[in-house]
Amino acid sequence: MYDFLIIGAGSAGCSMAYFLQKENKSIALIDREGIAGGASGAAGAFLSPLPGKKNPYNSLVNAALDYSLDFYEKLLPSAVDKKGVLRVADTNFDEEKLSKNSIRCEYLSSEKLHYISKNFMEIDGYFYENAAVVEPVQICRELTKESDFYKRDVKELHFKDGIYTIDEIKAKNIILAQGVGSSLVEIPYMKISPIFGLRVDVKTTTKVPFNIHKSISVSTNKHDGTLSIGATQQRHDDEKIECLTTCDKCAYYLESDEMQTATLLKQAEELIKLEDLEVVKIYKGARATIKSYFPLIGKVVNYESSLKKYPSIKNGTKIPPEMLEYYPNMYVINALGSRGFVYGPYLAKILAQNILYNEPIPKEVSTEKLFYKAARKD
Ligand SMILES: Cc1cc2nc3c(=O)[nH]c(=O)nc-3n(C[C@H](O)[C@H](O)[C@H](O)COP(=O)(O)OP(=O)(O)OC[C@H]3O[C@@H](n4cnc5c(N)ncnc54)[C@H](O)[C@@H]3O)c2cc1C
Repeated sequence: MYDFLIIGAGSAGCSMAYFLQKENKSIALIDREGIAGGASGAAGAFLSPLPGKKNPYNSLVNAALDYSLDFYEKLLPSAVDKKGVLRVADTNFDEEKLSKNSIRCEYLSSEKLHYISKNFMEIDGYFYENAAVVEPVQICRELTKESDFYKRDVKELHFKDGIYTIDEIKAKNIILAQGVGSSLVEIPYMKISPIFGLRVDVKTTTKVPFNIHKSISVSTNKHDGTLSIGATQQRHDDEKIECLTTCDKCAYYLESDEMQTATLLKQAEELIKLEDLEVVKIYKGARATIKSYFPLIGKVVNYESSLKKYPSIKNGTKIPPEMLEYYPNMYVINALGSRGFVYGPYLAKILAQNILYNEPIPKEVSTEKLFYKAARKD
């Protein structure tokens, strides 16, 4: 009998396992693929600040970045290359937006960049010190080294007499950290859209002094001598595809690898000349996002029975969260979007503290916020 059963061994599930295990809770971690076999294994994994005038979204990202970067450096320094990032203006962040942001940075002109490396193209940008690239699989393995791992494809949940059971595995609490996988209970207010992506790892004789970001990112030379270039973004919205398997096994994408790799390499070459380039490996995955782009953590509100009990919620009646109906001892952490390694430890710590000590969850990432929003639209 475990204290917690966690379904999904990506950045979200592994970070949850870590923080709960630190509080002496026993953990069974379940995944149909393995540790970091989903989006987390495909991630760049770049940890960069979000520039721009301060708002609730970039404040969350930047708070998570500060926390998680520091956390990874203590957890496994050998899996972290913290050399900063050069942010080059693009359509999302034009020159004006970049120059007026709230985080400390240094403007680097093209002359200055050429002085640093003759391989830089004619670019300029803003340099942020607090940025890194990490080894996603090593991090996830380190986070879960004290947890029991079971490789299972969970089709349904059984709950009886206060106990969740999956095959022979039993636990009092359950955490859904499934990424784009079909949710094991109905959470209609959490509408996950997968955003497919590809990253390539390459070898080159060029020394890249820091990460560079303009629509895509080129990493600095990592501990293992490779560079990561990522990532492409392709939404699944229109195709209405359900992610039943990993992208690596998804026939829909088998033919586009070459094209997407070529696009990435071309975009990278517009930033810095990479000499003696050799593609080492291609990684694919699907990011889980919801419309607001905020991630989501908390107890799982039972949508149907909450609305049955309080139908007037639909008309805007304010019913406090503690009066809603919840699935018993069930929690979710999902919709980490393109920043799963920035959010993972930060959100997992908040959720673990909430589960164990009833510490509050910030409203903007709470399950309740999305529940009320969806119910009022229903
Ligand atoms: C190409 C690419 C590049 C990226 N680059 C970055 C980056 O630079 N920086 C960054 O921070 N983030 C990046 N991301 C995003 C990041 O990878 C995700 O946000 C993060 O991995 C999400 O973690 P997760 O644990 O929520 O999901 P996942 O890692 O997908 O984990 C969910 C797991 O649940 C398992 N699962 C689901 N349902 C079941 C079931 N029924 N039974 C058993 N197992 C189940 C899946 O097998 C999967 O392993 C990138 C993503 C991609 C695809």
